[in-house]
Amino acid sequence: REITTKYEILDRVGSGAYADVYRARRLSDGLTVALKEIHDYQSAFREIEALQILQNFPNIITLYEYFWREDEDAVLVLEFLQTDLEAVIRDAKKNREGGIPVWEIKRWMIQILLGVDACHRNYIVHRDLKPSNLLVTAGGVLKLADFGQSRILLSEPPFPATENSLLEQDPPMVPSFQEENYLQELEQFKVHKFMDETDRETKYQDGDASCLATCTTSDVEDDLFKNSSYSYDAEEVKEDESGGFTSCVGTRWFRAPELLYGSTNYGQEIDLWSLGCIFAELLSLQPLFPGNSDIDQLGRIINVLGNIDEETWPGCSKLPDYGKIFFNKIENPLGLESCLPNRSASEIELVNRLVCYDPKNRATSMELLHNRYLNEEPLPVPVSELRVPS
Ligand code: ADP
Repeated sequence: REITTKYEILDRVGSGAYADVYRARRLSDGLTVALKEIHDYQSAFREIEALQILQNFPNIITLYEYFWREDEDAVLVLEFLQTDLEAVIRDAKKNREGGIPVWEIKRWMIQILLGVDACHRNYIVHRDLKPSNLLVTAGGVLKLADFGQSRILLSEPPFPATENSLLEQDPPMVPSFQEENYLQELEQFKVHKFMDETDRETKYQDGDASCLATCTTSDVEDDLFKNSSYSYDAEEVKEDESGGFTSCVGTRWFRAPELLYGSTNYGQEIDLWSLGCIFAELLSLQPLFPGNSDIDQLGRIINVLGNIDEETWPGCSKLPDYGKIFFNKIENPLGLESCLPNRSASEIELVNRLVCYDPKNRATSMELLHNRYLNEEPLPVPVSELRVPS
């Protein structure tokens, strides 16, 4: 076995629905890595594909190499990260009076936004954003991980349910960006592409202040995102026709309302809803909508944000499950303020820009990176000054 000649397994660090994760040592140089053994072909395929596209971005986990086994299991060799944002929140709840300071919250948010922006500008939807999938290095660099549920968006719906998935074609069919400006932007962004691993963190810290400046977006790019209606590949349509559960993606607490109502042609906006939930949790140290069933999930959202109807969300009545789930009309929704006590108006507004019913109204990651809140006093601390639980 090639893997065992190159890596020595040290211990098991986690297991998820389809995967076991081990801490291991690369024999050639002693580097600690994570070996992620994925037992589901589709999820392995998705994770490898997405990570390969996203390798040059500092806020995305590094994939060193991968192996396919005969039994269709895959083993991914990933960089090993010490902890995750869930642990950061837990630590703050236990040990930090007054929660996470604003200047640290802002730096966490910027790192998350840069990671999500990297996905979305490459037409990848993560679909399972939550604090435990945002891994953190000992030096405070946050990286998006667990792309097992991610999808690459295709630009022109609807897709016929053909035999061959478009993504299985070689090369996979993804939108082609010929726009000069877009490519230039992307080049600029790659200022953050680093030569070697040891350099990576220090350079990221140095280059950190310039991060926002280098990701200014062009109108062209904005249009690219806004005007294309997204849908998923044929494979998904097929799954759905056979009574699958494609709208059942992500972890319930972070799941967007269009998914809870069974939508199958959702877009990157589902990640933005999840972001809103994550940001709220950073601010209050409590999950925003901790539903214990899908119905309870919607009920909690409605109690806070108000009724879901054609007035508050044009088009919602056409969602597959809209007519199947009934809620009593709420006269006085609690409002986000009730979930974010003692937080400033601009913080509540930031969350509000993300957890809005109509996916069209949600702010994009790029818009949020330019949001006044993140760019005004108190300014975000450098990554190296973030408190990371050991
Ligand atoms: P699943 O797709 O099954 O949810 P995850 O990628 O979330 O699998 O991994 C499961 C657990 O393994 C995570 O919660 C985390 O604790 C641990 N883990 C995953 N990747 C790494 C990594 N690169 N470094 C350290 N721990 C990791």
